[in-house]
Amino acid sequence: MERQPLTRRLPKNYALVRDIVLAAGRGAHQSANEIYRKAREAQPSIGFATVHRGLGRLCELGEVMKIQLSGGDSAWYEPPARAHAHLHCDRCGHIVDVDYATAPRTLRSIAEREGVRIEAESLTFRGLCRTCARRRRKTP
Ligand SMILES: [Zn+2]
Ligand SMILES: [Zn+2]
Repeated sequence: MERQPLTRRLPKNYALVRDIVLAAGRGAHQSANEIYRKAREAQPSIGFATVHRGLGRLCELGEVMKIQLSGGDSAWYEPPARAHAHLHCDRCGHIVDVDYATAPRTLRSIAEREGVRIEAESLTFRGLCRTCARRRRKTP
């Protein structure tokens, strides 16, 4: 069987996990459970632990991005994209992309002021997504 150059570096199951995340497209955020469900459709013998390990490895490799919400143990995964923030909708639970990134100058001054070293930024707002916000405005 012919192999694609991209999948050669990764174990087959990990490549499957990556393809599921990428296939969802930009702006899609899937939980490990959703990814696992889809992986099983393609590969019924795959275990949750494999999917979970695969996601961890893919994050290390930068092939998949992970969004972790503070205060919760749930995480979402998305295709790599340029820096953006997220909004977690209080009403429908969706995670949506928000076009925002802290200016490098601000990050530098925070680091200087606090004496810390900032290596990554993960920012999540809470509120209502566009659909839920519109719905609320309509309700009297
Ligand atoms: Zn919503
Ligand atoms: Zn996102």
